[in-house]
Amino acid sequence: MIGVTATWVDDQGAHVAGGNAIRGSRVGAGPMGEVERGEAAPRRRIPFWCANGHETRVVLASEADIPEFWDCPRCGLPAGQDREEPPPAPRIEPYKTHLAYVRERRSDADGDALLQEALDRLRVRRGG
Ligand SMILES: [Zn+2]
Repeated sequence: MIGVTATWVDDQGAHVAGGNAIRGSRVGAGPMGEVERGEAAPRRRIPFWCANGHETRVVLASEADIPEFWDCPRCGLPAGQDREEPPPAPRIEPYKTHLAYVRERRSDADGDALLQEALDRLRVRRGG
């Protein structure tokens, strides 16, 4: 049993070592190196502007389709290629949620007031 176990562990170790070697070589000569060397490859810098005036230059391969919008990395708003007319900022969800929350609280408060008023009337009628 001990001998079999030892052999199994050795095989595992050999497999792991081989895998690490392969991964290491992939990282060294992988896509990242190709990108750095890719100056010869045709690329375009496409500027995008968001509603806050942030300019984002997106490097795209010349074959790649230019996206209509690009999320601004600074503020997260959608950015477009037209500096004069950036895409409008979408309605911010937290505000809507907050507003809905406030409305719910108001309606709850109103409901409580109405309920209390009704109870008071009932008490008055029963008391009188
Ligand atoms: Zn922005």
